[in-house]
Amino acid sequence: MLALLAGGPTTAPQLVKLTGYPRSTVHHAVNALRASGDVEVSNSSDDEERSGHATLRVSAILTTATFVGLSVVDKSGAKYLVAVRTTRSPNDTVLAPEGSIELDDQSPEGLVIAVSEQVRRLTEAAPTAAPVAAVGLSVPAYVDHEAGTVAFSGRFGWEQQGAPIRSLLEERIGLPVVLEMNVDAFALKEIAAHAGSDLTDSFLLILQGEGLGASTVIEGGILRGHSGRAGELGHMKVAGLTDLCTCGARGCLEEVATYRSIRRLTGRRSIVRIVEDSNRGDEESSIVLRAAARELARGVGAFVNSTDPGRLIMEVGDLVASFEFQRAFRQELEDYVFPSQQLPNTIQWRGTDHNDAVRGAAWAAISRFPRLKTLRA
Ligand SMILES: [Zn+2]
Repeated sequence: MLALLAGGPTTAPQLVKLTGYPRSTVHHAVNALRASGDVEVSNSSDDEERSGHATLRVSAILTTATFVGLSVVDKSGAKYLVAVRTTRSPNDTVLAPEGSIELDDQSPEGLVIAVSEQVRRLTEAAPTAAPVAAVGLSVPAYVDHEAGTVAFSGRFGWEQQGAPIRSLLEERIGLPVVLEMNVDAFALKEIAAHAGSDLTDSFLLILQGEGLGASTVIEGGILRGHSGRAGELGHMKVAGLTDLCTCGARGCLEEVATYRSIRRLTGRRSIVRIVEDSNRGDEESSIVLRAAARELARGVGAFVNSTDPGRLIMEVGDLVASFEFQRAFRQELEDYVFPSQQLPNTIQWRGTDHNDAVRGAAWAAISRFPRLKTLRA
């Protein structure tokens, strides 16, 4: 019965339906679990308003729960991990095992099938471990966080507006799912690093690669906005630029400051090679990198002016090795940021470890789930 309750709170009539046991058996089991501190029973005021009489709501209080975090890295596949969390060590979540899955079918439905099969395999592989309580999934696409839908992804060719990935997944696996945009998953991993401490952090995290995204964290929480789509850095408009963007508009920052635009503007295929050439003094490569850095800095500067982050995390992948890029970015940012507005204390350049997005996805699942039971001394 605890495994059933791991999916979230439920009511006694639902438990009777789900288990097939008589009402009296369910009643006894709930009372026993309540006495041992494994479940809590509360009034559901929503139901009371609707039906006119109170319905008791039964929730599991787990001492150990398993969470699965997954992140779609690119068109070919996704990474995942299993996070086992106990109240003995809330800040020291055990992360294992890790692995990756292939995506043969890149449609939203194909992703849902691949992810649900992996969650099923992980559940079957460890039948004695704590029940899986929730799943977090990070995708490189525009996510409506509240609705749990993927609105658009130029790279995946997901034109379908509002593909309901979260509800499709929840139906297939019978567990709560949290859907996150990849840049927010990176930010959640950063937030998780401070979990349990009193430190509430305000920072700005930029994810630059084939696309361009920003996640603004204010005092420990992600700024989502009215429809959950705050932070569209990549689609800010660049003066004088008319190139058509994957979003359908013209002159977006993504058309000058992403890997695909840098490759197109240099006429070369590898970002690693472009950076190496620039570091060796090749002026043609450096011109493109500096232009990308300056436009990116103006976009980021607008975010800095409006949100006042304490630090700036730049997840830039292979560009982490480019001196020209980083120098031009910093110079332009200093010029662009309002004089009385402080520059972020630190700019942290990172090479984009996709496992961080997987960890962030697991954290999204962990932080959404009801509290774990406090062990008595
Ligand atoms: Zn655009």
